[in-house]
Amino acid sequence: MGKSRRYLIAGNWKMNIPSSDAGQLIADIVAKIANVTKMDVLVCPPFTSIHSAKNALAGMAGIFLGAQNFYPEKNGAYTGEISAVMLRELGVSHVIVGHSERRIHFSESDKFINSKVRYALASNLIPILCVGETADQRKKGEELAVVTSQLRSGLGGISQADAKKLTVAYEPVWAIGTGETATAEVAQVMHAFIRNLLVDLFGQKAASTVKILYGGSMRPDNAKDLLGQDDIDGGLIGGASLQAGLFADVVKIAGELAD
Ligand code: PEP
Repeated sequence: MGKSRRYLIAGNWKMNIPSSDAGQLIADIVAKIANVTKMDVLVCPPFTSIHSAKNALAGMAGIFLGAQNFYPEKNGAYTGEISAVMLRELGVSHVIVGHSERRIHFSESDKFINSKVRYALASNLIPILCVGETADQRKKGEELAVVTSQLRSGLGGISQADAKKLTVAYEPVWAIGTGETATAEVAQVMHAFIRNLLVDLFGQKAASTVKILYGGSMRPDNAKDLLGQDDIDGGLIGGASLQAGLFADVVKIAGELAD
């Protein structure tokens, strides 16, 4: 592989796969990727399925457990919310922050997203900061400005040392759950742009360690082209992560590229 960063293939199960099904999905994935090394895999079940997923993963090296959300306070009167400590206690290492579905359906602002990124880092959770433009914004030629603004505000106040622990996901909103994928070339242009922004913010050395995942209808049939790009270090996968065969095939493709 032409890059020093390890691939990360992450599954975002969204509000799918109840606890009763989580163990089986994990077991099916594990059985299919047992021989894949040199890369990392992450599964992000809904909160109530994390425990079953953890049990099913017991002893598997290289497969991490993530959460789809958390609330950036230690504890207290935040009805319905889950803290970073609660996630750590379940063995969670990563958390998705700023997903477009949370920006859209739950009105999460860049300021709130920034507080989550900082809180996650302070709590030893790796934040996966999602950024990406809508179809309308791309049509108007605003995609670079939108991503710049989301990234600069999402990463405000982060030290250079903490920046090295970050993961970023470029998820064009028009490609999420639509079956429409950014071409590898279009995605690479944005990933290189994001890498340059990270260089501006944190310097070359820190920026070169940050994984930038692509998300938006990634599947086995487009994964090779996407993952083969210089600045695409993995995938954040929604729909295809719910089927062990599809998810495992993407993992295998990354494994082959890493060899
Ligand atoms: C996502 O929601 O992060 C995502 C990329 O979904 P999908 O793969 O279904 O487009």
